[in-house]
Amino acid sequence: MKKKIATVLFIGMAAIQLTACIAFTCKEQGCDETDIYEDGYCKYHYGINAGEEALKDIINNWGN
Ligand SMILES: [Zn+2]
Repeated sequence: MKKKIATVLFIGMAAIQLTACIAFTCKEQGCDETDIYEDGYCKYHYGINAGEEALKDIINNWGN
């Protein structure tokens, strides 16, 4: 879990450095969508990430 947070922070800092001189784009690697929907993602990638989180919750709750 801590590793994930560190990765997110690292990506976030890299993104800030990258976006300092270029237009702000989607956080998803390789995506240059500038129409940000929420949480730094374009609508498409925000949906994918939100879907993954929901899926993880379902899988985690299944075992209990
Ligand atoms: Zn995107």
